[in-house]
Amino acid sequence: MEQKIQMIDLKGQYLKIRTEVDAGIQEVIDSSAFIGGPAVKDFAAHLSAYMDGCHVVPCANGTDALQIALMALGLKPGDEVIVPAFTYVASAEVIGLLGLTPVMVDVDPRTFNVTVENLRKGLSANTKAIIPVHLFGQSCDMEPILAFARENGLYVVEDNAQAIGAEYTFSDGHREKTGTMGTIGCTSFFPTKNLGCYGDGGALFTRDEVLAERIRMVANHGQVVKYHHKVIGCNSRLDSIQAAVLDVKLKHLDDYCQARHEAAAYYTKRLKAFDPLEQHVVAPFEASYSTHVYHQYTLLVKEGRRDALREHLASKGIPSMVYYPLPLQEQEAFRHITRAAELLEASKQCAASVLSLPMHTELTHAMQDEIIAAIVSFFK
Ligand SMILES: *Cc1c(COP(=O)(O)O)cnc(C)c1O
Repeated sequence: MEQKIQMIDLKGQYLKIRTEVDAGIQEVIDSSAFIGGPAVKDFAAHLSAYMDGCHVVPCANGTDALQIALMALGLKPGDEVIVPAFTYVASAEVIGLLGLTPVMVDVDPRTFNVTVENLRKGLSANTKAIIPVHLFGQSCDMEPILAFARENGLYVVEDNAQAIGAEYTFSDGHREKTGTMGTIGCTSFFPTKNLGCYGDGGALFTRDEVLAERIRMVANHGQVVKYHHKVIGCNSRLDSIQAAVLDVKLKHLDDYCQARHEAAAYYTKRLKAFDPLEQHVVAPFEASYSTHVYHQYTLLVKEGRRDALREHLASKGIPSMVYYPLPLQEQEAFRHITRAAELLEASKQCAASVLSLPMHTELTHAMQDEIIAAIVSFFK
């Protein structure tokens, strides 16, 4: 059967796990434990095991996770938090929302991630935390970043919304999962994420038990004992039905990551097979220190031809997306944050040249061949 190529295929993925997912959802409905209850507890326990034993605090979405992290760390207005300029808005939005000061730094255009050199340029006497974002599914180079944070007494809040399942290799050879290396890790279970539910969801990770309790308290109206509120918190919960879906999908997460990685390898192989193509587009770079779970397969299109290529693909019925068309410094919401343009040049370049191809667990080689052929036909 001829299938239309989609940016992401959640329906196809669901059909393969339908029996398990439907049973999980039905169980929650039968129990009427819609908030909290065994579904959330079980999922949190399984996720904790997956995340190398980290404490897991589920919450309502990935943006909340980031906000709760900064609240739990007790940051105060005037404190500066360093964040990449090339990221999804949520990473910086929560900083501003809490009255903290976002300090934007540039990314490495090869990996789209911050480096310790970039972070150093954002450091001041007021810096309290950094938010490395593992963009598109690959870890930032964390060993030097963690050393930099230690030297300067900074909290590290990993934005792991796009990289759950990725692993970072330290110079001594040991590996750790993204989201477990910083003071706090945050993730999102938005449907299109690598581990996505059927609505909104998120979670925080930490190895620090005291901090885990504080995170739990902040996420639950600042209370430990019901109706006794120690701090101003918020209300951020993972629904039981979403937890039931996630508990099923978590079992498949490594296979999903593998499927994405294989699809990416096939794209890259096919792209490189067409010789002149490498003059026009740059395939994703895989750093030696990280596995890549390909939340997105993102090309850099040279010569200012990104938008034209995108239109050409669309004319052939092939979807593609631009994540993200504007760096933070060009967002109207952040116009009050001034930063020397030359410090954020690479982020601006990335925003002008990135193009993400369809990437999901249900891609076939036939679909990918069609996508590559369409790209080739544009540059011929
Ligand atoms: C999706 C995402 C978020 C926010 O997650 P939501 O669940 O949509 O709130 C934060 N940071 C990054 C990098 C994301 O991709």
